[in-house]
Amino acid sequence: MDVAKLESWLEENGEPKYRAAQIRQAVFKDHVSSYDEIATLPPALRQRLSRELPILSVSQDRLEISRDGRARKAVLRLADGRLIETVLLKPSPARLTTCISSQVGCAIRCSFCATGLMGFARSLSAEEIADQVLFWRQHIGCHGIEGSLTNVVYMGMGEPFNAYDAVAESLRRLTDQRQFAMAARRISVSTSGVAPKIARFGREFPQINLALSLHAAEDGLRAPLVPLNKAYPLKALAQALRDYLKATNRKIFLEYVMLQGRNDSPQNARALVRFAKSCGPLPLLHVNLIAYNAAVPGHAATPEPEIRRFQAALLKEGLAVTLRQNLGRDIHGACGQLLVSESQNVAAPAGRGAGAGSEGVR
Ligand code: SAH
Ligand code: SF4
Repeated sequence: MDVAKLESWLEENGEPKYRAAQIRQAVFKDHVSSYDEIATLPPALRQRLSRELPILSVSQDRLEISRDGRARKAVLRLADGRLIETVLLKPSPARLTTCISSQVGCAIRCSFCATGLMGFARSLSAEEIADQVLFWRQHIGCHGIEGSLTNVVYMGMGEPFNAYDAVAESLRRLTDQRQFAMAARRISVSTSGVAPKIARFGREFPQINLALSLHAAEDGLRAPLVPLNKAYPLKALAQALRDYLKATNRKIFLEYVMLQGRNDSPQNARALVRFAKSCGPLPLLHVNLIAYNAAVPGHAATPEPEIRRFQAALLKEGLAVTLRQNLGRDIHGACGQLLVSESQNVAAPAGRGAGAGSEGVR
């Protein structure tokens, strides 16, 4: 649903101005999934709109529901036939969170992430990004799911800051009162560390939450995990986070996937504390420890007692630390488990792919 496109289409076709408001109300408030449900529109107009401007730019290819019913994963087909995945999670009774994708595949190629192995096809458009949210709103309505969509996290497939313009436009749409009318503070964007975009994001979207996928606080350790660290090493990242804090004074979330024997030692914890202190006042930094979902051979999850020890070491130094809850593992809907490496998706798939579907940072 592209409101600007809709408005110019209506104007070109000689329709009165109030039609746009009628359609916006039906799509964003009543969550209709077809123009036929909009009784106030003349039948001929409904037919033409259905043919020429479908409400969604994506269509459901597959849907899976976890055994406990708290996670749903949809494979969505884009207009060019490529597939993406998006997840709906119910982390608590009062909350529905969606984890959305920003690209088909990812060019960053983090060593532990199956999306990275997939290679990269293309970035999504703003419409394709925001339509994932609209898809779930329609789904919630159609399936009588209790509650409404409260949170959105950009933690699916792809690096949001490598699709900056489309992501920025999608954020404007999600927070636009005439469209999705979502609260900015309930939206989070996660980046692997595209430093120049971090400060810009802070200036342009000071109310949206930022998560940085840190995973290691020593360059020698982080570069093999997150290859982007070679272009933007920790010093550049710390500077970007300081600029971000100056612009927003908002809390930053540091994501840390716990990988056995790689980044989970007491020394690694000390490095993380040092890094956090170099970025700003500790109350403005919040660490999320993520249990690794086995996705790429050669990487294993840190056992839970050791994760707890790592957490305790950080807490002792005054850092706020939470353990990320992973829902939907049984449908491969948790972090790094999304699987969409169909052959048409990317030019040269190097392995089975996965994105990340996680509970989010808030
Ligand atoms: N590209 C962005 C956003 C998508 S990934 C980023 O990297 O931040 C969202 C989160 O899931 C990141 O913190 C990422 O490191 C993590 N992740 C990726 N694969 C995972 C896996 N197999 N298990 C747990 N977390 C994973
Ligand atoms: Fe891309 Fe994020 Fe996966 Fe890294 S962790 S390959 S940046 S999706």
